[in-house]
Amino acid sequence: MIINNLRKLSNQIFSLFYPNLCAGCHVDLVHQEKIICLSCWETLPKTNFHLREKNPVEQKFWGKIKIQQATSFYYFNKEGRLQQILHALKYRKQFDVGILLGQKMGVDIIYSPWIKDIDVIVPIPLSKEKMRIRGYNQSESIAQGLSAVLHIPIQANAVLRVKNTASQTNKNIAERMENVKDAFAIQDVEKLKNKHVLLIDDVLTTGATLEACAREILKIEYCKISIATIAYAMD
Ligand SMILES: [Zn+2]
Repeated sequence: MIINNLRKLSNQIFSLFYPNLCAGCHVDLVHQEKIICLSCWETLPKTNFHLREKNPVEQKFWGKIKIQQATSFYYFNKEGRLQQILHALKYRKQFDVGILLGQKMGVDIIYSPWIKDIDVIVPIPLSKEKMRIRGYNQSESIAQGLSAVLHIPIQANAVLRVKNTASQTNKNIAERMENVKDAFAIQDVEKLKNKHVLLIDDVLTTGATLEACAREILKIEYCKISIATIAYAMD
C-alpha cells in the first residue's frame, strides 16, 4: 500500500516536471507529437475486434447479459506501453490521454455498421469518493474523445456508482462479481429509455464491472447495450 502510494506520488511529481514527455515511453515529444509519441502509437497492438463477429469481447458476455456489439481497441500487455499510457490516464492526472485514446478508437470504428445504431455514450461512472480523489472520471475522458469523432452525445449522469467498490485486482471472477454487485443505480431513466447505449470503460478484464453496470441499464424499457473499451486484458 505504502509502496503503491509512493509510486503514485512519484508519478505525479514526474509529470509535473516533465510535461512534454510521452505518456507511454517517457521520451521527449517532438514536433507535432502530442501526449503520446509516434513510436508508441505504432507499437500499440490493435485488436480490430470491431470488424469481427463473435469476437473475444462479445464472448465474455455470452450467457450473462444480452449485448448487441462489443469491442476493445488494443491488447493490454503487462509492463507494455499501453499500461504506462493507462497509468498516466488514471494516476498522473492526464485526463487528455483518455480524450486522445477515445478519438483514435472513434476514427477506427466510425465506419462499423453498428455504430450508426448507437444513440448515446455512457462512461462507466466512478463513485463520489473516487471522483473526489482523482478529480475526473477516466472513462468519461475516453467517452469525450469518442463522442467528438462519432458525433454521438454522452450521458455521464444517467447512471450512478452508489457503492465504492474495492479494487478488482487480485480477485477471481466470482469475487469480482460479488464486489461490483449492486454498485450501480440508474439516476435518470428518461435519458436512457428506448436508447441503444454504448458503454465505455478503460480496460476489460473479466468484464464483471461492465456486466454489473449493463445489467442495471438493461432494466430500463427498450434499452439495448453495446460495449467498447480501450484495452483488452487476457486473463
Ligand atoms: Zn512513446
